[in-house]
Amino acid sequence: MRLRGNKRQKTDEQPELYGTSGLAVELRGVRRQYGRGKGAVHALGGVDLALPRGTFTAVMGPSGSGKSTFLQCAAGLDRPSAGSVRLGGTEITGMRENQLTELRRSRLGFVFQAFNLLPSLTVEENVLLPMRLAGQRRDRRRAAQVLARVGLADKAGRRPGELSGGQQQRVAIARALITGPDVIFADEPTGALDSTTAAEVLGLLRHAVDTLGATVVMVTHDPTAATWADRVLFLADGVFAGGLDRGTPERIAERMAALTSPTGAMARAAA
Ligand code: ADP
Repeated sequence: MRLRGNKRQKTDEQPELYGTSGLAVELRGVRRQYGRGKGAVHALGGVDLALPRGTFTAVMGPSGSGKSTFLQCAAGLDRPSAGSVRLGGTEITGMRENQLTELRRSRLGFVFQAFNLLPSLTVEENVLLPMRLAGQRRDRRRAAQVLARVGLADKAGRRPGELSGGQQQRVAIARALITGPDVIFADEPTGALDSTTAAEVLGLLRHAVDTLGATVVMVTHDPTAATWADRVLFLADGVFAGGLDRGTPERIAERMAALTSPTGAMARAAA
């Protein structure tokens, strides 16, 4: 991550700030193609999605089904080849790079498998980083509040390397919560954690949704992790192939197996 000064990048056009739709994430006809002509790969083949605020959604799918591409396009990290993406009511499709960067810093939260904390900064400084990058006043009281929320009130002065993996991921969640974002995007957030620690981290994301009204979109390959979500959406060959509300790990695993099996693939190809 590149650190920048505190100069707030001023945008000449102020994007529409808050929509009235109550939707945190809205994708319409989103396509993402890599390459051209015969060798083109259609990673997303026309995705429509509307996620209300205050919901926790898990996205699952076989390897190569388009999960990363979906997350990148939905979070404004990659540009779709066609279609539109709205976040918190703001149309991001035509935004310039500096506008997108500012939106990601101030209105989105990110939690990654590899934690992505800066090792030379303290826990508190890591949590305050989005505010610093967005050129906002560093609110140490707010940092203390979010650290308390994730059970790390006493670790503010430590460096990430002094913490366990689970604790580091909790710092990442505190960092994602600090700006009160429209959406938190989580990419395999428990991929590097044991199952007990994973449950603690997922419990924190669940808690953020239930008590703070946060909206979480999480890509995972783990059916148990997905049960913490309100809804599991399944991606297959770049399109959403149905969902499951409050499924058990067994039912989620069954759906995944059906998507991965040769007969499942054949049925999709014939559809
Ligand atoms: P998943 O995260 O579900 O494994 P991806 O979104 O990474 O799926 O990939 C979807 C499809 O797009 C795959 O066929 C993959 O090979 C292809 N793909 C992803 N990124 C690129 C890229 N930069 N260039 C070419 N093809 C890509």
